Amino acid sequence: MRCLNCGTEMMNNQVSTKNDLVSYDMCEKCGSLWLDKGELDRMAFQVEGSIEYCSQDAVEELEKQKRKCPRCDNSNLYRVRFLNSTDIILYHCRDCGGFWLDGGELDLIDKELAKIMPVSGKGFSDFVNNVHVPYWYKRIKRKSSETDTQVQVLPIKGAKLERTTADQCPGCGKPLDEYTVFSMRFEGCPACKGIWLFKDELRRLKNKVEHGSMRWLNDEINNIEKTSTVATKRVCPKCKNVKMVSVLFGKSSIVIDWCPQCQGMWLDQDGFDSVTEYLKHELYSMHSKEMEKKALDEVKLVWSGGPESRYEELLDVRATISALINATIFEHPTLVRLCMGAPRL
Ligand SMILES: [Zn+2]
Ligand SMILES: [Zn+2]
Ligand SMILES: [Zn+2]
Ligand SMILES: [Zn+2]
Repeated sequence: MRCLNCGTEMMNNQVSTKNDLVSYDMCEKCGSLWLDKGELDRMAFQVEGSIEYCSQDAVEELEKQKRKCPRCDNSNLYRVRFLNSTDIILYHCRDCGGFWLDGGELDLIDKELAKIMPVSGKGFSDFVNNVHVPYWYKRIKRKSSETDTQVQVLPIKGAKLERTTADQCPGCGKPLDEYTVFSMRFEGCPACKGIWLFKDELRRLKNKVEHGSMRWLNDEINNIEKTSTVATKRVCPKCKNVKMVSVLFGKSSIVIDWCPQCQGMWLDQDGFDSVTEYLKHELYSMHSKEMEKKALDEVKLVWSGGPESRYEELLDVRATISALINATIFEHPTLVRLCMGAPRL
């Protein structure tokens, strides 16, 4: 693993503490850290519960250059608000759950934990003062390259690979694989992680979830009529010689490619996650408590999860699929006309 800041080969530290075995990768030049999922919790063992909660709302990215996860084969790191309410903004991988901390950010978290946790001053203090800096504990230190692992990422989290297909990825041209998730069949690209959703699959699922139709989402979906479609050079993986058109999802800037012939849809990598993020944001931005309650009631009909569950846990893959199913834009006659009339490139 090379440092995302300065390119230096990182060092892996494996430390046996009184309580646990902590493993972390560190850049000895600039002090940056890579922490796999669970490592932050292990470091803050004095704090009860998990501290790896962060707002998944991607923070506006000012930097042009995106950072890639050092573990996953093609995943971006997102800027997230750590512990949700704080000003600490870290890089986080949604696929493997790891965190990238620039030099000094560990201290920021430590200070924040000391402020908000009942065990004042006990956040990372043991780790920062006794484990990390002096070498009091048994430690194995070696080049990160000796301990690096690769995480194979599926186009949709939790999906199951069924078989390979002869269909071509509209994004990168590689053959698509077939997957299933929550009894839905879809094709995805193992290389660029885009996903193809069949209209029939969506219709089938729509019948299942009809009773919880998430009407609160339909208002903005209706706006699609005012949205213009854009012709693309991308070819439908099913119809082979039909070019797809781009449409925007709701009022967002998320682009979905859509085939006017078979009415399947293509989402680029992170498109699916972006839709989830967008829906979550819409849910959060509902000010009226009444609306919020109504929305949550509808969500509960579709999702599993107890009444005590947080929105974050409810708004998972199933939520997004349901929203896409309810995106009647894909069956809208006006849109079809627009699309059919769109100039082909
Ligand atoms: Zn560095
Ligand atoms: Zn990752
Ligand atoms: Zn691809
Ligand atoms: Zn098609």
